[in-house]
Order: sequence, then structure tokens, then C-alpha cells
Amino acid sequence: MDSSVNKIDVKRETAELLEKLGVEASSYTSGDLASFTPVTGEQIASVKTHSAADAEKIIDKADEAFRQWRLVPAPKRGELVRLFGEELRQYKNELGRLVSIEAGKIPSEGLGEVQEMIDICDFAVGLSRQLYGLTIATERPGHRMMETWHPLGVVGVISAFNFPVAVWSWNAALALVCGNAVVWKPSEKTPLTALACDAIFARALKRFGDAPEGLSQLLIGDRAIGEVLVDSPKVPLVSATGSTRMGREVGPRLAKRFARSILELGGNNAGIVCPSADLDMALRAIAFGAMGTAGQRCTTLRRLFVHESVYDALVPRLKKAYTSVSVGSPLETSALVGPLIDKPAFDNMQKALKEAAANGGIITGGERIDTGHADAYYMKPALVEMPKQVSPVTEETFAPILYVMKYSDFDEALRDHNAVGAGLSSSIFTLNLQEAERFLGPDGSDCGIANVNIGTSGAEIGGAFGGEKETGGGRESGSDAWKAYMRRATNTINYSKALPLAQGVSFDIE
Ligand code: NAD
Repeated sequence: MDSSVNKIDVKRETAELLEKLGVEASSYTSGDLASFTPVTGEQIASVKTHSAADAEKIIDKADEAFRQWRLVPAPKRGELVRLFGEELRQYKNELGRLVSIEAGKIPSEGLGEVQEMIDICDFAVGLSRQLYGLTIATERPGHRMMETWHPLGVVGVISAFNFPVAVWSWNAALALVCGNAVVWKPSEKTPLTALACDAIFARALKRFGDAPEGLSQLLIGDRAIGEVLVDSPKVPLVSATGSTRMGREVGPRLAKRFARSILELGGNNAGIVCPSADLDMALRAIAFGAMGTAGQRCTTLRRLFVHESVYDALVPRLKKAYTSVSVGSPLETSALVGPLIDKPAFDNMQKALKEAAANGGIITGGERIDTGHADAYYMKPALVEMPKQVSPVTEETFAPILYVMKYSDFDEALRDHNAVGAGLSSSIFTLNLQEAERFLGPDGSDCGIANVNIGTSGAEIGGAFGGEKETGGGRESGSDAWKAYMRRATNTINYSKALPLAQGVSFDIE
């Protein structure tokens, strides 16, 4: 039994943190949504949910706020996000700790998630002075052609349990500087961190002074309330993060009403370890990528192709790391791997391991650790040596399972690497330039993220984040992802005294 789990009164600490963060007790003490912590499995709050009628009102209010906010100059909008970043710096420890309690992330990852929020605020503040379009050469004399970018409207954000605060901030920081209002439906598994973000944002709003009411609001509830957001004609963009199953439901509904979507869905990320790889570096990157966050990152490393010439040098060391890694309370700094979110996650892990064994997999780890809490699911991460890539390797199981396969031919490894539905993140470990460039090239990795000599997880906010195929094709965060949050107009201005038509068309009326 891991005694670290029992050291802390989680329920009391949660209430203290929420009070410090400025969340009204009435919003989490007598509601109808039971909120649990994966640390002990116990219920820590009862959060008030919204009805469909509430949701309509919230969206209406956001729409009104948008109509005012879009007229505020973008650098001034950036000032609000700058203040939000300051508040996050001040409350980083409390919010990070709450993330650990509600999502089960180890302390450095809980804090890291808040750091990511701060980073995106900084990025968005800079962006607020750079929302520029092109000036384009025109074929007509005395004309000028350019593009302008305008605010879009209410941006709906639907988020998953495993990044309970960062994903919202990626969307909200960009949406706000772009002149939009935001309505956020967090995961029903992590409503408390959402309430905390709302309270922190309210402090920034107060300091800012004259922002319209309703600029950023919460919609608490399960998928049914998310559907109201998805179906509302007043929401021109929904950014939805979660499983591919969710994306299959949400995507067509948005397409039906010609709304925009940013879909950030499941991943089944892989790495290739080549003969020339720096194995020490690869070992560390693989260990973090596969076991970190208890395998509950969208970018978690789930499949590993190891060249036969280095298999025996790498895999036994990896197995050792798997058997010795510390699993325990995410509220203590001693643990590297925290708990699974809940029982369905545990059941899914068991099912996948059973199927892998039936298909020839040899399993190291994967056992449940007894903490004395019937509803807390602490697992030894599992490394499964598979003879080939068959089910369940081809599907994402949101748990710490790494399938390891041996390869002899690079082309074959690349083919298997791409032969799954998801297309989020990927890595190659090699010191061979030809292999590295091939992996990054047009017939290499088919993922939205392709790395050389680093793992699949832990992306920085400066790059565009997202994946291809069943990962949904959306991009958020850095680079030019902001363009999805604005509408583009092409403007042509005639400052001549004639009216030449494009393509030399003549249309002379009397
Ligand atoms: P989930 O799909 O169960 O839920 C995600 C969110 O979608 C929740 O807020 C849920 O209430 C909502 N939802 C579900 N069905 C809906 C519907 N029909 N209409 C509207 N809203 C709906 O996912 P989860 O278990 O919370 O998170 C884990 C999954 O998320 C994994 O598959 C993981 O890979 C993925 N994920 C992807 C990214 C990414 O950026 N690609 C990031 C984090 C997590």
C-alpha cells in the first residue's frame, strides 16, 4: 500500500483552495454534479449545473458582449489578457494544486499546466498587436487589394478532463484578443478547476474596468449542455477537445449549420528508435512520453518501433524503468505517476491488456496498486512487447500502456507508424540525417506534430497544436492558429477614375 495517498485531507484542502481562489462556496457545495478526486476516489464537491434554458441565456449574453468587445482596439483587448496572465502568476500554486487534486496530475505537471496558461497569455498579448493581413498586388491600375481580419463572434470551447485548464486558456486568450466572447463547457469530470479559472479571470476583468459583461462564461454540465453550444446559431466557432467519439458527434452537427470547428481529438502516438539513436536520450524521452501523466495525455507515447539492432540494448532498460517508477499520490513530489481518472479508465486499461495478451503481447507491469481506497485507481504503467501491430495497438487506450514492436526495415516501420486512425504526435530517435529528414518529409510521419530526438508529449505553446486524420485536423495555440478565431475579408479599393474589370472583362452600358 502506498501510504502517501492517505496523508492529506483532500476534501478540506479543496475547499481551502477554492476559497483562496475566490470561488463562491454556493457554486460547489449544494449542486447536482458530484465532483470526485482521483487521488482517493472520494467526492469532494457538488457543483451547480446549467440547464438548456440557462445555456441559451448565457450564449445570448456572450453574443451581446461580443458586439461591444469587437469594437475595442485589439491592443486594448490584449491588456485584459495581460492582466489575466498576471493573476495566473499570482495564483499559480493554488490552481496547479487544484489541477493535481481534480485531474490527478503530479505537482510539476499541475504547475506546468498553469505555466502553459501564462505562456499563452504572453503570446496572445503580443499577438494583439500583430493581427495583420496581407496587401496583395492587383492586376488593375489605380487599385489596392488587401485583407482585413475581423472578430468572429461567440467562441464555444468544449474541453477534456486531462487538460482541465490549459486547453481553455489556449482558446480563450486567442479568442479574446481576436475580439470574441467565450463560452466554456469544461469536462464534467473537472468542474472545480473551471470555476477557479472563472474566478481568476473575474479578477482580471475587475482590474481592466470596462469590459462588457459576459465576455467569458462557463457552462457546467455533461455532454447534453455541450450540445446546446454545438447547435446554437449564435456560436460561429466551436473548439472541441476530447475523444474521437465526441468529434464524430460534434463535427457533423457543426458542419450541418456551416459553423467552424477546431477539433482536437484522440491520439495514438508513436516513436521510432533507429540504429544510430542516442539511447540514453531516447530512454528518458520514452519514459516521460509513455508513463508521464499516467498515460492520460492526448500526446502520450503509445506505440514504439525499435530497430532490431538496438532492441536488446534499449528494451530491458525501459522495462527496468517501468518496474521502478514511483506511482503514488499526485499531491506528493515523490511520485512520477499519479492515478487514472476513474473506474471506466481502469476498465479500459484492463480490457486492452487482456486483448494484447490474447494477441501475443508480453506484459511488464499493469497491476493495480492497493492504496486502501476502493475508488482510486493507481496503476503500474504497462510495457507490452507485441509481435506485430494488431488490435488493441491500433486504438487509443487512455491509460499508461506502451506497445513495443521490433522492426528491421525503416520503410516498414514508417508504414506501421502511419497505419492507425489517429494522427496527432510522433517522434523519431536517430542521429542519421536521412532518416530524420525522411520522417519530417512528405512521405514521412503523417501527424500534426513530428519531432526528432524528443518525445511525443510536452509541446510548447509557440507552435500550432493539433493533428490529422481522426485527431480532427484542428490547430490551436501558437503560430497562425489565431486565424481560425477571426473572419477574413478581402478588400479591393479603386482610387482611379475608371472602372476596369478583373480578367479584362468588358461590360459597357450606354
Ligand atoms: P470525452 O470525449 O469523453 O469528453 C470531452 C468533452 O466533450 C467533455 O467536456 C464532454 O462533456 C464533451 N462531450 C462529449 N460528447 C459530446 C457531445 N456529443 N456534444 C458536445 N460535447 C460532448 O473526452 P475525455 O475522456 O474528457 O478526454 C480524453 C480524450 O480527449 C482522449 O481521447 C484524448 O486523446 C483527447 N484529448 C485530445 C486533445 C488534443 O488536443 N488532441 C487534448 C486533450 C485530450
